[in-house]
Amino acid sequence: MVSLTMLKGREKFNLHIGNYQKQLLKGQTPKSATLVKRNDGSFYLNIQLESEPPAIPDTDDVLGIDVGRTDIACTSKGEKFSGQQITQTRDRYSRVRASLQKKASKGTRSTRRRCRQVLQRLSGRERRFQTWLNHTISYRLTRTAKASNQAIALEDLTGIRERTNELPRSKTERRRSNSWAFYQLRQFLTYKGVKFGVDVRIVDPRYTSKTCHCCKVIGNRQGKKFECLNLKCGWVGDADENGANNIATLGVIVNNPRGSEVMSCSLQDVVLRATKSPLRTA
Ligand SMILES: [Zn+2]
Repeated sequence: MVSLTMLKGREKFNLHIGNYQKQLLKGQTPKSATLVKRNDGSFYLNIQLESEPPAIPDTDDVLGIDVGRTDIACTSKGEKFSGQQITQTRDRYSRVRASLQKKASKGTRSTRRRCRQVLQRLSGRERRFQTWLNHTISYRLTRTAKASNQAIALEDLTGIRERTNELPRSKTERRRSNSWAFYQLRQFLTYKGVKFGVDVRIVDPRYTSKTCHCCKVIGNRQGKKFECLNLKCGWVGDADENGANNIATLGVIVNNPRGSEVMSCSLQDVVLRATKSPLRTA
């Protein structure tokens, strides 16, 4: 029930609301509301509720997340979200789009109009699919981090175009990486972090994919595989997982003023393997 001040004093009204709204209002003290009269003459009350975001716990355990191209996301715990399905879907849309765009610029007047309509419909469908996927992934990652009291570390993605567009790259490859999807996933992770009380830390992406996460020596990355060149370490494994682990390490450092020591290697423990350059003989 609400009480409203009318011209002739206060009057009480029963709210016609469902269980969902009742549940939301339960135990709350709304501070403001707006009375709205609809075109059909009915009245609505928009009630504003404020909710405090949960406190963000201080933690030294960090879940590193590498946002990539072949896999949309890979965590430092080795969990992966495959990008294969989305890449296929987007390649298909891209092909259809190219063909429609060609028709839209030639063809008769009505064909051109029809093509424009179809293009518009497709752009919405592709976008919704990607948005749904990003929501699902970011939700799962945030819940995982929350459940094990971890913070989340992400790379500063502002430079991802430059990084993934290192020449030479085909047109298809460039289209795949120059996408708002990376940006959106990061945004979703950031706001879900606030909502669920998970600390989201942004780290410098440089060398995260080139450094071995075990011994911090620069290694050799070839596609999906990473190989450590330090003979005393010799870690070989998934390149994305290695990157995610480095991101997690950096995420710990961000909160720790003396932490940069963690990201260096002791020279005594390094014996480099000669890779490309063969030994010179006198
Ligand atoms: Zn190593």
